[in-house]
Amino acid sequence: MTDWQEIEKEYYMPAFTRIPVTLVRGEGMKVWDDAGKEYLDFVAGIAVNVLGHCHPALTAAICEQAGTLLHTSCLYYTTPQLMLAELLVRNSALDKVFFCNSGAEANEGALKLARQYGKHKLAGANEIITTFNSFHGRTLMTLAATGQPKFQEPYKPMPGGFINVEYNNIEAIKKATSKKTCAIMLEPIQGEGGVNMAAADYFKQVRSWCDEKSVLLILDEIQTGMGRIGPLFGYELYGIEPDIMTLAKGLGGGFPIGAFMAKDAASVFEAGDHGSTFGGNPLACAAGYAVLKYILDNDVLTQAREVAYHLAYKLEQMKTQFDFVTEVRGSGLLIAMQFNRDIAAHVLNACMSEGLLVNKLKPNAIRFVPPLIVSKSDVDVATNILYKVLSNIKTEKGQ
Ligand SMILES: *Cc1c(COP(=O)(O)O)cnc(C)c1O
Repeated sequence: MTDWQEIEKEYYMPAFTRIPVTLVRGEGMKVWDDAGKEYLDFVAGIAVNVLGHCHPALTAAICEQAGTLLHTSCLYYTTPQLMLAELLVRNSALDKVFFCNSGAEANEGALKLARQYGKHKLAGANEIITTFNSFHGRTLMTLAATGQPKFQEPYKPMPGGFINVEYNNIEAIKKATSKKTCAIMLEPIQGEGGVNMAAADYFKQVRSWCDEKSVLLILDEIQTGMGRIGPLFGYELYGIEPDIMTLAKGLGGGFPIGAFMAKDAASVFEAGDHGSTFGGNPLACAAGYAVLKYILDNDVLTQAREVAYHLAYKLEQMKTQFDFVTEVRGSGLLIAMQFNRDIAAHVLNACMSEGLLVNKLKPNAIRFVPPLIVSKSDVDVATNILYKVLSNIKTEKGQ
């Protein structure tokens, strides 16, 4: 058997901490490694494979488009792009869309749009308020927006114009707002930063503050959008609407695509202001269209919410059974389990040898972000494995 880990060592930049398994095939909720071992996938490519692996509707759409028209650039009109644009706008609170290729690119575009808005409508205001422990991407601009110094440190100097404040603290936002502020950018739930939830009224307060100060509210829905936390878009949970919203991860169901959307009032780009050779490419948009159409036509989100309750219930049960499980938090199918010590790597490895993939969120927390097509029986299998793994962890006295 080929030693792919050796080949990586020889040829690939060592920028990742990989889990030592080579995945070669997927179907539905399952993936297989190169030794033929089967895994139940509760990671879904980090909240991406919303329809599971190789869903027939998605695979067929990609194959058909690949045999029809692959790429034309942004110089011409293409049908999949406009079909997806129409479907997204009709099913969201936003009015216009721009497609790109990843989450970071979507945020980069959203930030440029906000700066452009500030230039024309807010007397040149260009500062953007974001939060500590946020995650907005790995380009320099989105790293500057990301309030986590550990990601920024090696690449300083960072682009300026960002102020980081505490999440879930409206007073901190108020204090940081000035005549120079053009936008406030938040995740409906901080995903990579720890599945951190805000209080129920936080987003309403932020929305009113943005209205009062005439600054834009940008919601980074790259992780929370596409049904991940319950409704199609996270803002629906809080009864508010953003001025700008970004999407990626689940949008293509595994095909790379990103998007930023805006209300008409915030949609200030004019010809030549932004661009992308690949963005909105027919293949990516055919994939995105197939995913969203399938979700809407098959009421995938109702089923996902029911299964999500079941998963949360099972995990909460384990919290009462194991004293080292200190918290279960999240919404919909974005759930974290918090431990009182650094056992996440051990739990991940033990689950993996039992045939379950979970995500290490922090040294002391794991995350569950399964496909939205996950069933109750998949949850039962997964939580039985997790129960067995946690049962084998010795409880230390006094903990
Ligand atoms: C994953 C993620 C990003 C970055 O997306 P990439 O496609 O990796 O560039 C940005 N924001 C949030 C909230 C994310 O979860």
